[in-house]
Amino acid sequence: MENNQNLPKKNKKPYYYKRKKKSNNTLSNETNKQNDLDLYKVEQVVSSNTKLQNDNQTTANQEPKQNVVKPTNKKKKYKKKNNIIKQQENKSNNEKQTDTLTDKVSLEKQDNIKNEKPQQQKAEQVVNKKSNNKNKKKHLKKIENIQDDSLKIYSLGGLGVVGMNMYVVEQNDELIIIDAGILFADDDDHGVNYIIPDFTHLINNEKKIVGLFITHGHEDHIGGIPFLLQKVKVPAIYASGIAVPLINNKLSEFPNIEYNLQEYNDDSVYEFKNFSIEFFRTNHSIPDSFGLAIKTKYGYVINTGDFKFDFNPIGHMSDYHKMTKYGEEGVVCLLSESTNAKIVEFSASERKIGETLHSLFNQIEGRIIVATFASNVYRVQQIISSSVECGRKVIVFGHSMEKTIEAAIKLKYIDVPKGWILKARELKKIETEHVTILCTGSQGEPLAALSRIASGTHKQIKLLPDDTIIYSSKPIPGNEQFINRNINKLVHAGAHVIKNSPLTDTHTTGHASQNELRMMLAFTKPKYFVPVHGEYAMLKRHVEIAETQGISSENCFVLAPGDVLSIDNTSAKVLKKEIPASDTYLDSSLSDVDSNVLKERRKMADEGLVSVNYFINRKKKLLGDPIVTLNGFATPEKAKVLQEQIKQKCDEVFKQLTLDKDNFSIQSVEKQIQNCMFQYIYQRMDRKPLIVVSIIQVK
Ligand SMILES: [Zn+2]
Ligand SMILES: [Zn+2]
Repeated sequence: MENNQNLPKKNKKPYYYKRKKKSNNTLSNETNKQNDLDLYKVEQVVSSNTKLQNDNQTTANQEPKQNVVKPTNKKKKYKKKNNIIKQQENKSNNEKQTDTLTDKVSLEKQDNIKNEKPQQQKAEQVVNKKSNNKNKKKHLKKIENIQDDSLKIYSLGGLGVVGMNMYVVEQNDELIIIDAGILFADDDDHGVNYIIPDFTHLINNEKKIVGLFITHGHEDHIGGIPFLLQKVKVPAIYASGIAVPLINNKLSEFPNIEYNLQEYNDDSVYEFKNFSIEFFRTNHSIPDSFGLAIKTKYGYVINTGDFKFDFNPIGHMSDYHKMTKYGEEGVVCLLSESTNAKIVEFSASERKIGETLHSLFNQIEGRIIVATFASNVYRVQQIISSSVECGRKVIVFGHSMEKTIEAAIKLKYIDVPKGWILKARELKKIETEHVTILCTGSQGEPLAALSRIASGTHKQIKLLPDDTIIYSSKPIPGNEQFINRNINKLVHAGAHVIKNSPLTDTHTTGHASQNELRMMLAFTKPKYFVPVHGEYAMLKRHVEIAETQGISSENCFVLAPGDVLSIDNTSAKVLKKEIPASDTYLDSSLSDVDSNVLKERRKMADEGLVSVNYFINRKKKLLGDPIVTLNGFATPEKAKVLQEQIKQKCDEVFKQLTLDKDNFSIQSVEKQIQNCMFQYIYQRMDRKPLIVVSIIQVK
């Protein structure tokens, strides 16, 4: 994601709209507090590592409460298999130790076996090839082991949408969560502000969780953390660099949540019973974006996080050597982000954008107003550097921008001469050619600084005819109309507007385009491939790219949330919808909104409401006519006519249903009337309003 404040929405509508409207901004970095930065000094990872290992040893002997997949009728069978594994594990502990490192040779061997036989019943075929009758029994036990010992990879969010990323790698009694993101609701999700993954499976398998690993600090990767922690006990959250204060700031809004946040660095390695986890740097639009390399007995599982390859970056270089090392040692499965899988061109270097901005700054004479993503610390640095070089003092507008810059300066991600950033009130004192205004609102968010400037409602900034507004950003799909509306107002007020385009180059993406995706595939040489982080068209395109890199189509898996990719020594298969993974909706009070409630809200908004009230006496005889109310259904004149028709029909239906029945069930009659009226209204008016029928007994 480009920005932790600016996530693309589910339905290509401006996601920010509701968020900005709401007063409760608990999810936002905008609530960063200076003193939270002290929390950045986290404990050393090594100590927690030891603790986790000990904890895991304790839990290792416990029978998992619920099995990995299908906690339904297969449960019993699975438990039985699990017992066999446990016995074998005890017997062959040493063997297992050496087996944990899957070398390339063994992967190739498995490939050879695979090529010789069809996909089905591969495990049995391996046994038949290698065993004789004498030790057949022993091998069959091994098959059980292979099957139960399988590696399970699945997503609870982030597939089919760009947002709410959450991926899980599970084996035996251990489970690793990668990222806990959020998706901002759109205007169709009436009264819903946020969408988060379904945590049911994690709640049911809480004891298996060894940690939550955060790839980077964008909202679509960290925004769901508070909600996850409210429902599930997570032994530790592992994050790095700027993600650490961002998570601390976020969680400071939830004082009741206890958490253990560990900071990892380039060289950290976390050992668990089934997994060993290390990290590799990539480039992205926020500092400290890491990929995860999870060593399993089948080889590495790589999750790239959000990445691009910038060969001349502002911050760190990508760890190309590590990626190739994993490839050499054997990557069993690559989960690679797909946001820009449809983009052909190599993504431009962040440094090039700095050069463009510098050259623009040199040419512009009046005041410069730059709008960009608050979390794009590298961009902010380049805007500040260009301003310094051109003798322009910087004034920052927009709460999220102010707070992010404050944090980034403190953590030395942004370097700015002392006294160069001025307070808003000092704006009046400086000549127009000596000022850069850095602000939020690059996506046309109605309440952001730039929108207020454009509308003339900003308290401190009134547009001047020689102002130049630079959009150092890209419209997120769905936001174009809001951005254009602002541009129209800005131009109308006489300002110059520079947008990103192939000619201006005021922005570059943080996500890998096709060639960078190819590079990732070439470095890691995965056996199996799962495209993640994207809409389905992006995921499918990414599979096509993987195929050009020699990965056969049967080894590429476009999963849906809740599908489980189960990998063993010989094969990989998809278990469809094995895990609950429906969206969870949260309203502005951060309470869950039931999906049925949401359905009703949508219906009311789209089709209106018809409510029918009957009054009956103690003997269940109708008292007067039913009272029919129509809301959001028709103009008052039309509604009056319809109301009369519906009333007559309701009266008729009630009498028919209760005829000769002295003691009918009120609830059942209500339901039947509702169904009848639904048919009646649909047939006559081609409408499907929400119909509420109440029979009220007057005592
Ligand atoms: Zn992302
Ligand atoms: Zn991102």
